Amino acid sequence: MTLAIMSALLDEQRGLLEQLVSPQRVKRAGRTFWCGQWAGQDVVLVLSKVGKVAAATTTTVLIEAFDVKSVLFTGVAGGVGAGVKVGDVVVAEAFIQHDLNSAPLFSRYEIPLYGRATLDCDPLLSALLLEAAQLGLVGVGDHIHRSLLLEAPKVHRGLIASGDQFVCDPSAAALLRTDLQAAGHEPLAVEMEGAAVAQVCHDYGVPFAAMRTISDRADAQAHLDFSAFVSQVASPYALAVVSRFITLRPGK
Ligand code: SAH
Repeated sequence: MTLAIMSALLDEQRGLLEQLVSPQRVKRAGRTFWCGQWAGQDVVLVLSKVGKVAAATTTTVLIEAFDVKSVLFTGVAGGVGAGVKVGDVVVAEAFIQHDLNSAPLFSRYEIPLYGRATLDCDPLLSALLLEAAQLGLVGVGDHIHRSLLLEAPKVHRGLIASGDQFVCDPSAAALLRTDLQAAGHEPLAVEMEGAAVAQVCHDYGVPFAAMRTISDRADAQAHLDFSAFVSQVASPYALAVVSRFITLRPGK
């Protein structure tokens, strides 16, 4: 029952990699896969790379070559929902591609030939991830957010929008949100990989769950201190939540 743990950036992965017992490095499709055990469970750690196509390729290799039975994604995202602040965590309920538009052939955001715009995450795995985030962030969250003068992290659950754009302009973020709302979708966060991973997992029937720590508000400040935030906040958050998730996960 191998679990894949994907991250987009090296800094997001670093703390997780240190937890692997007898890690073995396997190279495939220009990616480095780390196979090992974590709390007695078989896991594969890999960087998705950035963007939807890269993330889809990585997910396909995980499933085809490493026979993973569930996929967990941890990373960072821009907060676009009301009350979704820097330092908060969003556990994905579903994903949508905000840059997918085949109108008038299909309705806006609809994935052609799938008959739908959103893809749901696995309810059981996501419920475990939510619980892991709520429990895991209590100690570590307090310590980190205080030292960085952030508010205590809130854990949200909802829709995440993915697209091949780093959104760093308030009007672009507002437009993205109002357009999605006009089609009946309420995004909490925006990032660049999740919907692609969700689609590949959907195709293979592999359960998928994802969490994103909010690194920015998708505005003009979005690029500032991005890597500092990832190493000081997102990386320890991911470690705390994934450690908890692994102990909660059944079917080891
Ligand atoms: N600056 C980084 C690249 C970051 S790309 C570097 O030099 O390596 C942004 C990554 O963070 C992607 O994985 C994306 O999923 C996520 N992300 C965070 N904030 C985002 C935003 N405002 N818009 C889109 N993606 C965002």
